[in-house]
Amino acid sequence: MSQAVLKLKKVIVDFSGFKAINQLDFTVKPNCVHFVIGPNGAGKTTLLDVICAKTKATTGEIKLHSTKELSKLSEDQIVHQGISRKFQAPSIFQNLSVIDNLEIAMKQKKNLFPMIKAKWTNEQKKKINEMLELVGLKEVQDQLAGSLAHGQKQWLEIAMVLMQEPDIVLLDEPIAGMSKKERDKTGKLITKIARDRAVLIVEHDMDFVKEYADIVSVMHEGQLLFEGSMEEVQNDPTVREVYLGR
Ligand code: ADP
Repeated sequence: MSQAVLKLKKVIVDFSGFKAINQLDFTVKPNCVHFVIGPNGAGKTTLLDVICAKTKATTGEIKLHSTKELSKLSEDQIVHQGISRKFQAPSIFQNLSVIDNLEIAMKQKKNLFPMIKAKWTNEQKKKINEMLELVGLKEVQDQLAGSLAHGQKQWLEIAMVLMQEPDIVLLDEPIAGMSKKERDKTGKLITKIARDRAVLIVEHDMDFVKEYADIVSVMHEGQLLFEGSMEEVQNDPTVREVYLGR
């Protein structure tokens, strides 16, 4: 397998004496669809929070490409290091068109915001176009984002995250509230996205995980209980006892 793009070593997140993350060693590899599963309260969201600096690690090391230490950086600095997160609720600009939303995401990356009238080079136009094709929103590019279906809003936000050109994409339950058709489309999109970068996803839907996972990490009480393919996860006796309840 390829080298780690991100490595957490002995990370603790202590909330007034309660360790939501407890001495966690965790590795993220490129070109993988990597799911994090586990019971409620296992520390999955806190793991994403600590990677993107929404929450600070109390102790421990978070290293990007085995050199750059991230644990003291701010959320903005983390984005500039190539780690972008999509939260569960869409944070798109509802009153702007799909294409305007993508242009804003590109301007944020290039620090041009709020110079809305900046002229685009052909290369930039091409990139926006490719992104619209990738997420399947080309036909609705001039529609207001607020008028899109639930799945389309999620894909738009994934596209906005990708405009930041991240090496690592963090996703929080990306298929929540989606129809079967939207879930399938999202699964295929995630598989494509992972061809060029690492994708780490917190997910509760085991059927979805089973279908699209390259790696599954099972968290329990702030620690990594097990890691492997979904088949290995399902056959592990400890996981079955602690999590799957059989
Ligand atoms: P999961 O996403 O696996 O359900 P979380 O990472 O959200 O779990 O939470 C792990 C544990 O840490 C839970 O017991 C939760 O109540 C606790 N926790 C999360 N955030 C905070 C916080 N800001 N202050 C105190 N406890 C927290």
